[in-house]
Amino acid sequence: MIDTHCHLNSKEYNKDIDSVITAAQLAGVEYFIVPATMPEDLEKTLEIADKYDKVYCALGVHPHDASKFNEEVYSDILRLSKHKKVVSIGEIGLDYYRNISVAESQVYALERQLAIGLETELPVILHNRCADKDIISILKKDGNSDMGGVCHCFSSGVEVAEELLKLGFYISFTANITFSKVDMTEVIKLVPLDRIMLETDSPYMTPSPNRGKRNVPQNIIKVAEKISSVKNILLEEVIKMTTENAKRLFRIPILVLSLFILSNSLYSQDNYNDDYDDEYEEMPDPYYRKLGFGPLLGTNTFVDRYTSGNRSFSYEGLFSAGGYINYRFLENFIFQAVYSYSENRKAIDKLPDSLKETLDRNFHNAIEFSVIGMVVPKNMVNFYASLGTTYFMNQISANLGAPLYKHYWHDKNWGLNTGIGIFVNLSLGNMGTLVINGEWKLGFRLDAVNLNYDPRENINSDKRKNITSYTTMSSVPRGGIIWYIPFF
Ligand SMILES: [Zn+2]
Ligand SMILES: [Zn+2]
Repeated sequence: MIDTHCHLNSKEYNKDIDSVITAAQLAGVEYFIVPATMPEDLEKTLEIADKYDKVYCALGVHPHDASKFNEEVYSDILRLSKHKKVVSIGEIGLDYYRNISVAESQVYALERQLAIGLETELPVILHNRCADKDIISILKKDGNSDMGGVCHCFSSGVEVAEELLKLGFYISFTANITFSKVDMTEVIKLVPLDRIMLETDSPYMTPSPNRGKRNVPQNIIKVAEKISSVKNILLEEVIKMTTENAKRLFRIPILVLSLFILSNSLYSQDNYNDDYDDEYEEMPDPYYRKLGFGPLLGTNTFVDRYTSGNRSFSYEGLFSAGGYINYRFLENFIFQAVYSYSENRKAIDKLPDSLKETLDRNFHNAIEFSVIGMVVPKNMVNFYASLGTTYFMNQISANLGAPLYKHYWHDKNWGLNTGIGIFVNLSLGNMGTLVINGEWKLGFRLDAVNLNYDPRENINSDKRKNITSYTTMSSVPRGGIIWYIPFF
């Protein structure tokens, strides 16, 4: 059996979803289809489907929440529905019984979401309550029913069932058909066995004797039993046919196969109203990354390199700190701006104590602009190489025999940078994505400046006055954290 409509994303199951699923599986429920209802639960619904092998989902906004539907939600659904576990757009429709959202916004949300169904070629899950006339006339508009679908928790009369069948839709029943107040006998008799589906609409529509309590997917058997008795056919036949129907409409066997074997290849399958010879949808990126920023720390940083004659001296093992801004402008490419700061005390530390005061630290500020090219950007771990330009802003001590009075040589110039690195992506759901970054970055000044002193010599020595060439390079193993904000 397939429970084609159960809200396992509802908070009713927050505490025990694992055992609810296991209990249903033990009772013979093979697959579960979980429809979203609100813009806020699209991600959660997808996460549940992603987590459990046998759970698939439908993404959409319920008529009750139609007032929250807008073009942004439209694009969210369109984007998320490319995920392999999304088998339908839903639940969508009209509910004039409770009219929680005004009719105009319900109609607007329905029509826009039918358009998503058409574009993604995913069947829709329709919710219709006391809105027979409007829903039929909307479905009859050009293209609106081409993707096919199911009318869930069917509660209308025979005429509406006939219209929906003509439009190619399946009809799905909940335990409402078992309620004593409702007589769905004629509709059940009318709908052919190859167009019926079963569902529980959990946590709602609990069959007796537990009415009023939380419903669970294994109660689906009660719906099958009722259909079997009304149609006077074997229960096994009802189960077999409804399971096949659901697999056909939601293309479940194909998806299962593709998960294991051909996640990106071509597939085809006969279908009652459409031709699905189509390229398999490309996997969407599971990590939302557009604009991100965060802190970074590094070691072994800016190297001051002094040269006079053939003697050169550099300082290593320095510490640097800074921050990044990353903007992903193409799937595989990120533009990165980095600011980093470091200071070099080592130049003073090597002087005798009596002279330490005569020389100050060297300060290094650098701004890098780089382009990062990622390999397999949708994986949890991405490797990359980068290339860019660095603006070095050095402040080099030039304290020439004037203790207690600091002089600096300001040295600013452009250079180049290149690096290799790794991103480890952690999805934060609604909060965006957190990336842990490690990289090894090289930065070079292309030129050298001549200083009219040699900072490496004793301040009283004649050699101190030697012209010394100075340049900077950096070789920085560094790491940081980048938060890709969700609202950009
Ligand atoms: Zn519904
Ligand atoms: Zn529902």
